[in-house]
This record gives sequence, structure tokens and C-alpha cells, in this order.
Amino acid sequence: MRRFTRPVLVLPSLKDREPAQKPKTFTGHWTNPDVRGALLAMQGWVCAYCGVDLEQHAFDVEHFRPKGNVTDDPGHEGYWWLAYEFSNYLLSCTACNQKQKIDKFPLLPGGVRATAATRDQVKTELRALIDPAADPVEDLIEIDTSDKLARLRPKPGITPSQEAAVKETIRMLRLNRSLRILRGRLRALERAVGAADNNAVDRLRIRACRHRSHSLAYYQLLASLAPDQAPETAAERDWLIKKLVRALAQAAKILDNGGDENDERQCAELVWAAAVLLSLGAPVDAALSSANLEAEKLLVQDFAAGL
Ligand SMILES: [Zn+2]
Repeated sequence: MRRFTRPVLVLPSLKDREPAQKPKTFTGHWTNPDVRGALLAMQGWVCAYCGVDLEQHAFDVEHFRPKGNVTDDPGHEGYWWLAYEFSNYLLSCTACNQKQKIDKFPLLPGGVRATAATRDQVKTELRALIDPAADPVEDLIEIDTSDKLARLRPKPGITPSQEAAVKETIRMLRLNRSLRILRGRLRALERAVGAADNNAVDRLRIRACRHRSHSLAYYQLLASLAPDQAPETAAERDWLIKKLVRALAQAAKILDNGGDENDERQCAELVWAAAVLLSLGAPVDAALSSANLEAEKLLVQDFAAGL
């Protein structure tokens, strides 16, 4: 898990959607390309919870606070008023979303769950789930590098309630139990240790980018080897832009050769992701020009103007 910075956006699919009361059924506006694209721009292709590569795993737009009901509190009607709220979304692999997290949203002892009537209190309800788009993840969680399974643990020195939340997050999402997650993390840690042994700071820096899978291993080793060398936000974003532009170039080629509806949808997500980054001041248009993606650049600019 890594910390992500959530952009403040009014996305077309979510504008003026907040329901006045709990709807009988929810419409999946969160699956639209602008929403998924904005989350790609925030995270890259990385599961917000377990850190796996989302190019290799199916993924969902996950509601951080469950919209319909709350497993931990059967009397609660769910955080339905946040169903169409961008700040309540994360990209997560389907295993984390559909098998582990589902509708769980535990609170720490003494926590008071917010309801529609007390919705302003969501910020103070003492959630037991770490929010990768709000909490200082790297200050709270670390990989135990001496553990043969590379398990996660709370960082020493954090408060008892932070420690309880980290432990509950790890337990609930099976971050130390799922073979799929452990194998990926262990592989990353072995590579990071190899790079650290060779004093390959540049390699650690590139792989410590938060938009890359299992990057915590590299980030942590880099922090112990050269603490002032952590990649800057701009460098991490540049890496993401390069990846995005490459994906757009491939998508454009596929669509030129007659892609299907799903390909078009994925291409639209990429254009939206680029538009969000552009609206945040990232040099996306220059990257698109250098890849000869002039038509896509116009589209990206057009979408960004509407944000
Ligand atoms: Zn996951």
C-alpha cells in the first residue's frame, strides 16, 4: 500500500449526482471512463490496497465507505450519500474489492459511525481501515524485511489507534495471508535488496515510484540506503505519463484496426486519465506530441477544459 494524492475534480459522470435519499438501486456511474480515468491518474495501474499490478489483474472502482450496507453494523443503511462521490473511490483489484473488503468498514473501539443525518462526522468516526488517499501510509506501514514472507507490520512509534488501524487493515484485506500478494511483495523485496546490495540507487528510485506495483519494498530500501533520494512527485508523475502515452499509442493502433466497444472504452479511460493529469498542470501535451498523438492530444485538451 502507498499513499496517493487525490485530485479535487468535478467529473462529468458524477456532477450533481448526490442522492437526496437512499436509492432502491444504484446506477454504476462510477464505472464510466472519466471516473476510472481519474483514478488511473491518481494511482496508476496499482491496487490501492494490495499493490498488485492492475494490468495483470481485473480491477474495480471500489467504494471506500460501502454504499449499500455495512457488514460491521447491520443496522446501518450504508454510506449511500457517498455513492457518487469521487473522494469515496479507489481502484482496487477484484480480489481485494469483491473477496476481502466487500461491504466491510470497521471502526476502532469508541468510534461513532456517521449516518446520512450526521454525515459531517465521517472524518472523525475513527475508521479502522487505512485510506491510501488520505493517510500517510509510508509513515504507518512497513515491510518486515527480516521476515521470510515479507509481511507488513505497523511502523514503530505510531499511536496505538494508528497501530490498531494498520493491524485491522492488514487482517481484513489479508495483506499478509494471500499467496498472490505475498509472492509479489517478496519478489519485489528480493529485487530491492539486490539493488541495495549493489548500491543501485537509481534502480531503487525508479522502482520506488508509487505508481508501480509493490513499490513499497523499493521505497523502503531506498529510504534506508539514501533517505534524501526518494523520487519527487513530478518524477513519479512523469513516469506515469510515459506509461499512459505508451498505452494510448497502442490503443490508437488497435482502434485503427477495428477495436470493439471494450477497446474504445479503455481508450476513453486513458484519454480521461491524461486529461486529469493535464488539468493538474502535468506536461501531458508535450508527451503526446512527441509520440505523434496529435488527434489524441486535442481530445485530451478538450476533456481537460471541461474539468
Ligand atoms: Zn488488491
